[in-house]
Amino acid sequence: MPLTDNLTTLTTLMSKAQRKLLSTTLGGILVGAALSAGAATDSPGALDPAVAAKIKDVTPQVVAWRRDIHANPELGNQEFRTSALVAEHLRTLGMEVQTGIANTGVIGILRGGDGPVVALRADMDGLPVTEQVDIPFASKVTTEYNGETVGVMHACGHDNHVAILMGVAEVLAGMGDDLPGTVMFLFQPAEEGVLDAEEWGAKQMLSEGAFDDLKPDVVFGLHVFPYPVGMIATRPEGLMAAADRYEIVVKGRQTHGAMPWGGVDPIVTASQIVLGLQTIASRQVDVTNAPSIISVGRIEGGLRNNIIPGEVELEGTIRTFDENMRDDIHERIRNTAEHIAASAGATAEVSIIKGYPVLKNDTALYKRMKPTLSRVAGKGFLEGKPVTGAEDFSYFANEVPGLFLFLGVGSDDPKLVHPNHSPLFYADERALPLGVTALTALTLDFMQGR
Ligand SMILES: [Zn+2]
Ligand SMILES: [Zn+2]
Repeated sequence: MPLTDNLTTLTTLMSKAQRKLLSTTLGGILVGAALSAGAATDSPGALDPAVAAKIKDVTPQVVAWRRDIHANPELGNQEFRTSALVAEHLRTLGMEVQTGIANTGVIGILRGGDGPVVALRADMDGLPVTEQVDIPFASKVTTEYNGETVGVMHACGHDNHVAILMGVAEVLAGMGDDLPGTVMFLFQPAEEGVLDAEEWGAKQMLSEGAFDDLKPDVVFGLHVFPYPVGMIATRPEGLMAAADRYEIVVKGRQTHGAMPWGGVDPIVTASQIVLGLQTIASRQVDVTNAPSIISVGRIEGGLRNNIIPGEVELEGTIRTFDENMRDDIHERIRNTAEHIAASAGATAEVSIIKGYPVLKNDTALYKRMKPTLSRVAGKGFLEGKPVTGAEDFSYFANEVPGLFLFLGVGSDDPKLVHPNHSPLFYADERALPLGVTALTALTLDFMQGR
């Protein structure tokens, strides 16, 4: 989930996290049952016993990798140490390894039988956050970011994603000739975005040809989230939002505050635009189709009480779960702002800066793999609600059918449960085997036509 993304829902709701509640809402997803922590952590449920044994064997190593990566976080496009660790591991397993894709990305190809090609993705970047978690492997790394010295932390939990996928690679490579198809391991940089770049992360990996020579049949990925350990949540169709930014400059004509008729008031006009924008989601689009949000995050104009300024700026975020609605809402924002401004004799210049697209799970793939997820997570599997944060896994899932999951890493102790991007974000490592099991089982079941 990108840093630029306002995870308000999460932040406000996570503080209420109470694992013991039978039904509560965490980050927008309904947690339907009390989960006994660790239930799914020891049993790599319902896999071939030989594969399950391999997962058990690799678990201590996955934990060690995760701690090591956690203690050595790197910002987007600077994941040099992490990608070297990954590339070395994949080479040791005998894979074809490509490095330096999209700056620091790594792709490993593991060839098995003639079956399908399954892509598995893990993002590798940390965030400019100073860690406040009291653990022996807490990050002490600092860096310069946006002109400030800040800590670097795996505050979104991507350390877990890397370690889990390295574990999956070891398990699947260990199957040798018994692996029914081909696996493409995508270790992606810069999911959180980078400053001053046109392109990064998943989009850049694709534009540099990640899927050109070998196009996967499907792509799977997961993200850790402060749900209870033992839980996996996902849903068909829109799982995470498209996140777009808009800026509106309302231009009027400056005048005395006592004589508004002497000019054109951009403050009142901007206020009407703020209200007008709210009618798009509530009055103009079909609310039964998919949710949508238009928020104003910044409004700026004026210098003192008795001067009506010449200009006001507005800025905000747009969240949508359907690409057609996304385009339609952009058009309506333009129309609303321009016509309200025109009605006052002002003008409105609207810029919309597109962010990550909707993360859409392929419905057929979801239906096909749901039994697999139910098998590995048992009662910990949940079909949840959409999440209004964004993820650039969506670019991969726009190329080939994709399925993305949330993996619960929330501790039993509510004091340790904090949202992603918090300096207190803590992932309980007991969740790691379930992550390895889920991606392994999805891969093998898909290859075996289950
Ligand atoms: Zn994030
Ligand atoms: Zn993330």
